[in-house]
Amino acid sequence: MDLKKEFKNAWESLSEHEVKEVMDYSNEYKKFLDYGKTERECVKYIIDEAKKYGYISLEEAIKNNKIESGAKIYANNKDKSVALFLMGNKELQEGMRVVGGHIDSPRIDLKPVPVYEDSDQALLKTHYYGGIKKYQWTALPLSMHGVLYKKNGEKVEICIGEKDEDPIFYISDLLIHLSKDQMAKKLSEGITGEGLNLLIGNMPIKGEEYKDEKEKVKLNVLKILNEMYGIEEEDFVSAEIEIVPASKARDVGFDRSMISAYGHDDRVCSFAGLKAILENESSEYTQVGLFMDKEEVGSMGNTGMQSRFFENCVAELINLEGDYNDLKLRRSLANSKVLSADVTAIMDPNYPDVVDKRNCAYLSKGIVLTKYTGARGKGGCNDANAEFVSHVKNVFNENNIVWQTGELGKVDQGGGGTIAYILANYGAEVIDCGVGVMSMHAPLELVSKVDCFMAYRGYKAFLNN
Ligand code: MN
Ligand code: MN
Repeated sequence: MDLKKEFKNAWESLSEHEVKEVMDYSNEYKKFLDYGKTERECVKYIIDEAKKYGYISLEEAIKNNKIESGAKIYANNKDKSVALFLMGNKELQEGMRVVGGHIDSPRIDLKPVPVYEDSDQALLKTHYYGGIKKYQWTALPLSMHGVLYKKNGEKVEICIGEKDEDPIFYISDLLIHLSKDQMAKKLSEGITGEGLNLLIGNMPIKGEEYKDEKEKVKLNVLKILNEMYGIEEEDFVSAEIEIVPASKARDVGFDRSMISAYGHDDRVCSFAGLKAILENESSEYTQVGLFMDKEEVGSMGNTGMQSRFFENCVAELINLEGDYNDLKLRRSLANSKVLSADVTAIMDPNYPDVVDKRNCAYLSKGIVLTKYTGARGKGGCNDANAEFVSHVKNVFNENNIVWQTGELGKVDQGGGGTIAYILANYGAEVIDCGVGVMSMHAPLELVSKVDCFMAYRGYKAFLNN
């Protein structure tokens, strides 16, 4: 009997062999981070991996007009979110086991008319995406990822700033010598949203034919863009270009126990969910991996969790089982068990005052069960049912998953939300369960390798139970 419950550092419980497993897992995760810095890149990675494991597209399954247990299906939602299904032995209406994360991360987007010139500099206007501390995004190497559609409908993909030989891009900050006024401002006002302009050129265009042109630096950049990608200024209107940190995922610490990278939120849980479902082969209940877009801006839009995408996929699969009806769809969703696989706050000894030290998550103490998120008296949260918390806890205990509990900050300190409440609307049992992240939403976030590994092992066990 354990009268007291103590959450321990997960590294302590690992054998030497398991430590190696954690390191191997982390190396693969770092590759995913470096490959997938946007939701579109993550979707490509996830589908490519799924195909290696025998997944076929939902369209192909519909064309085959049949489905059987053990079937593996992926549903691509406009190249920006994706769902994986491993069909179980039981009918869908018995419920599914779902691990749902998101693959969009806070970043800086280009505006539709971004290019301008000022003081002989060519710059891009931006609009930030998700919750960022604006001052963190200045004076650091930035890369540019995304797509544009040309007038003829052709798609152009851009990814520049990641290779060592690539140029990077830059948002300036004011020199300290002249920052008397700026330094007196509140942290939230020192750098403004409209001040996040991206420096992309400084060399005027040459040639007799341009001698009467104004804005020669802007023109030169547009000429280079045309030579590189065949694009014109108007094409930025029909584009999604994302500015992200240019740095790579790196080990942290003499013991290499941690990883710093852009986009742990929420690629750390998405990657764990991906590995978990791909390694499972057969199952009682249908297993689902959700990799959603738009979580950082409220899960709206047709690639976000609030869209009917997931529901429509399940409807298609029920139809393939035979005898579709609405009741079966409702039952499939209501009878499901879901881990909302998203990151949570971690105790940061530099800022101990924002958490309740008895209820917050700690680095390396394992995967975090967050019963509720929300703000100001649990406002807007999905407060998981005790019965379901008990189920998840038992699955973890039976499978030697090191877990801990967490809270998104102490009472009345702030808060946040995830996709948990959306899936709960269907009647499904849902709990937030993911990895603790330090410096969440900063250009470089930090996680513990053993927490990443426990998330993967935990998700895998959950899907199988
Ligand atoms: Mn998140
Ligand atoms: Mn977030």
